Amino acid sequence: MSTLPDFAVTVVGSWPRPAWLLEAMKKKRADLARFQDDACLLAIKWQEDAGVDVVTDGEQRRDNFYSFLCDRLDGLSLMTMADLLEHVEDKAGFEKLLGALDVPAYAIRNPTVTGKLKVRRPLAMEDFRFLREHTRRAVKVTLPGPYLLSRSMWVKKLSEGAYPTRESLCTDIVAILREELKALAAAGAEVVQFDEPVLTELVFAGKSATRTFMCAALAASASPEKELELAVDLINRVVDGVTGPVIAMHVCRGNWSRDEGVLLQGAYDPLVPWFARMKVRQFVLEYATPRAGSLSALRGLPPGSMVGLGLVNPRTDEIEPVEGIVRKARELSAFVPPSRIHLNPDCGFGTFAERPMANAETAYRKLRALAEAARALRS
Ligand SMILES: [Zn+2]
Repeated sequence: MSTLPDFAVTVVGSWPRPAWLLEAMKKKRADLARFQDDACLLAIKWQEDAGVDVVTDGEQRRDNFYSFLCDRLDGLSLMTMADLLEHVEDKAGFEKLLGALDVPAYAIRNPTVTGKLKVRRPLAMEDFRFLREHTRRAVKVTLPGPYLLSRSMWVKKLSEGAYPTRESLCTDIVAILREELKALAAAGAEVVQFDEPVLTELVFAGKSATRTFMCAALAASASPEKELELAVDLINRVVDGVTGPVIAMHVCRGNWSRDEGVLLQGAYDPLVPWFARMKVRQFVLEYATPRAGSLSALRGLPPGSMVGLGLVNPRTDEIEPVEGIVRKARELSAFVPPSRIHLNPDCGFGTFAERPMANAETAYRKLRALAEAARALRS
């Protein structure tokens, strides 16, 4: 990573899918892989043209950031939230939650455990190889975090035949993610990022139990402290002793709606002590909206930590002024050296295939603003 410039520009992961890819996905075309390849090439091109230093494949082969595991693992069934309503323990609570969110229950698909997990195809290695072959820039590979998977995949009635408890499932989740990480490290991926959006739900939604992330609504959970303890343990078991890539964790407050009012809010302060215990090098965080609170919370990260600083909002059409981006990045550089700061959007531009938060042109212009800010910061 020493070759990366200060304030390296990157993305969180996903890119809006072209209409022809969505069409091909919907029709489950036999030659879907060719459409996905083309869409990845486009996503790479947009990022390179915008001046991104660490590129992803835009997650063009995925329906969303964790549902794609159904294509890669045996033992999972892709179910919509409407399907799951039949099976969850707290039906009334789940129904209330679905009603409160402005997303139709059939629109979000969840990988649900219905059998023993077994790797059918690598989670990301093939995607990484394609990306590596088609860019000369550094690359980032994204994977769903182990805690997120432990919350979303285990639905008692459907999963207990294969895994009597959520804990028993965790062992297999850790083993699968760890194998993938080791393979990516051996192949030379520069950044491997685990997505753990649900961590904010633990501290901001709190004991009121209004679970704001649909994917988190499934597993009955212990106290926030116990859950955070589990999150620390799981990620540390996945990454322990793996060297090579920058191991990153992305934690945001939701990216399913343009209505800021329905997304979680709160500063990262209560999470930082837990972050500090994770053997993770970089924290990829959202700071583009006032909901995120003050940067000073990050003073509590361990020395040597890197920050992926979210400075543009993927859910708005306005392009953030370069001066504002520069100002905020300077504020962080008062206590994190520029070589350890990456500039990125708050979250992906297309987390859910059919509900992108931005179009490609807007996403491109936002990345260009980040790249322009990075140039100003470096000079
Ligand atoms: Zn996010």
